[in-house]
Amino acid sequence: MCPQDSIRSGGLEMTRAETKVQRSLARYGADRWGKEFLSVNDSGHLLFSMGDMPAVDLQALVLRIQKAGLSTPLVLRFTDVIADRMKRLRDAFFAACEATNYRGGFTGIYPIKVNSRSPILEAIVEVRARLGFGLEAGSKPELLLISAQQPVDGLPLLCNGFKDREFMRMAFHAAEIGHEVVIVLESLRELNRFLEVEEERQWHSRPSLGMRAKLYSKGAGKWETSGGELSKFGLTTVEMLEVIRRLERVGSVDRLTLLHFHIGSQITKIRPIKMAVREGAQLWGHLRSRVPTLRYLDLGGGIGIDYDGSHSSSSCSSNYSVEEYANQVVFEISEVCNEHGFIHPQILTESGRALVAHHAVTITDLRQVQGQVLPVPEVSKEEHRIISELRSTLASVAENNYEEYFHDAVDFRDEALQLFSRGYLSLDDRAAAEALFHRIRLRCQEIDDQVPSGSAELTGYLRQARVKYLANFSIFQSIPDFWSINQIFPAAPLRGHDGEPNYPVQIVDITCDSDGRVDAFAHPDGNLTELPLHRAAHEESPSEGYLAFFLTGAYQDALGNLHNMFGRCHEIILRRHRESDPKDGDDALFPDDDFHVSARPGMSNSQVLAQMGYDEDTMRASIVARSTEQATSLGAEWALTALAGYPYLQR
Ligand code: PLP
Repeated sequence: MCPQDSIRSGGLEMTRAETKVQRSLARYGADRWGKEFLSVNDSGHLLFSMGDMPAVDLQALVLRIQKAGLSTPLVLRFTDVIADRMKRLRDAFFAACEATNYRGGFTGIYPIKVNSRSPILEAIVEVRARLGFGLEAGSKPELLLISAQQPVDGLPLLCNGFKDREFMRMAFHAAEIGHEVVIVLESLRELNRFLEVEEERQWHSRPSLGMRAKLYSKGAGKWETSGGELSKFGLTTVEMLEVIRRLERVGSVDRLTLLHFHIGSQITKIRPIKMAVREGAQLWGHLRSRVPTLRYLDLGGGIGIDYDGSHSSSSCSSNYSVEEYANQVVFEISEVCNEHGFIHPQILTESGRALVAHHAVTITDLRQVQGQVLPVPEVSKEEHRIISELRSTLASVAENNYEEYFHDAVDFRDEALQLFSRGYLSLDDRAAAEALFHRIRLRCQEIDDQVPSGSAELTGYLRQARVKYLANFSIFQSIPDFWSINQIFPAAPLRGHDGEPNYPVQIVDITCDSDGRVDAFAHPDGNLTELPLHRAAHEESPSEGYLAFFLTGAYQDALGNLHNMFGRCHEIILRRHRESDPKDGDDALFPDDDFHVSARPGMSNSQVLAQMGYDEDTMRASIVARSTEQATSLGAEWALTALAGYPYLQR
């Protein structure tokens, strides 16, 4: 899509343009959080590429998608990136096993809850036999979905989560279909349910059993309460021994094949991982000496993503790589096993975030600006004293006095508003006072940005009063974790990286909710509260000012909600061409040399309403009847088109 030779790489002699590009990327931290997948072309546009995939000019791509009829906001899914990430995890474990002479082997598992959208599962299913990945479910629909996939010998299908009898039956059914199913017990009650369901009929194939252990070791980061003795998950040691006793009693202890633990998602430090693996390996070895059929040690998920590029233990980063994770895990397990003479277990990991976070880029367009500087209105011939005071403050505000003058300006502005309330100031005077105060604030902001010598309070106030750009999306739908758990995502505009984007703006979304704003962008040197853009950007046609949020591929799709009735966005799926791609009747959105580009349209207005429990047909019929009855100017046909429209802002 974009010739590789136009990609900038750090040459020996850096041209001025290259320095500009690097400075621009550094402003957003993209030189660090995006170093594996972002670069910039000669036009100053961002290029996305991972592994050996051809680089994509994101700005050009979005314009093509727009031309093909789908507008922003949208999610770009580079699904080959998922296979690339799966391969990286597998290769890291294979290399670690080889280096330590580890004999147990490794199998990856994809936990479907991390992103259950169909293009993601399709991408995983396409390569899982080749790359050796099993699947994991934590609910009944998830289990139905993964058991409907083609079984692959030697690749387990794990059942986690809390299970009732119906869930157990589904697991037995999946085993009969041909999957190697392991039901991971969360409680003793689940064991009883399992045994009852087993007795229900003559199943011709049965799942095996695993136990989720409640480790004492905890993770580190936002999800550390998933582990530790107070966690809501898993069996204590006494309970695990009771499971074994009960199974021995019914002659079924040989059904136990797996020991599992999971100490949380986005684990920021490697040390707690090592400690948990050590504890888990000891448990595994001791249990294995009682239950010879145990063969899997399932470490759960948790590999952290370096969202802010700091490669540190900050909550939006991780201080280790996938390779270091694999090395440490294999080393710890083999050390425990070798020391105590345990056989090496087959290692399973349920890392999801590490496989899918990178593949998705969420694109929105920046719209109208709040806080535009409008001309100061003409006032009465005899200018009011308060207006003259504001005018002279504006004329004399400077670096050495801006804090004091800003305080004066606030007093004058407040006095002007009080005078207006008491009837001593005209509407034009009030408007002039507001406009002059706005200019003084902008001037003080400029000075404070360059030489912040004012108080922290003033800097904070000026920051809040920044120019606001409206991003055409809903954070509740597209980056819900930002709102709910302060998960910070990296972002950057799609173009302008050959210039000096040094105009900090606030980004607010289009929901009618004051929480609907993005006031933190991941950055390695401390998150940004505003996004630096080009000052001229607000004069552009809005559809050209695109902003991308990166690393949005894990969890956001399922957690996104319909607050304000903004529905799921358009999805554009890009993958390299396959031999099997249809020649005629191609489902491609547009032809492209490098990628097969297809689209799954987002929710229409009527689909969103239907999701909220309104019957689409009744709604349609009632709108048509009322428009016809009232002979509305736009007519019934128009109303139907409006129902089929996209809830987000259109051009
Ligand atoms: N396995 C279990 C049991 C989980 O609860 C989770 C998520 O919290 C995962 C795997 C996936 O974790 P991650 O996406 O952090 O790799």
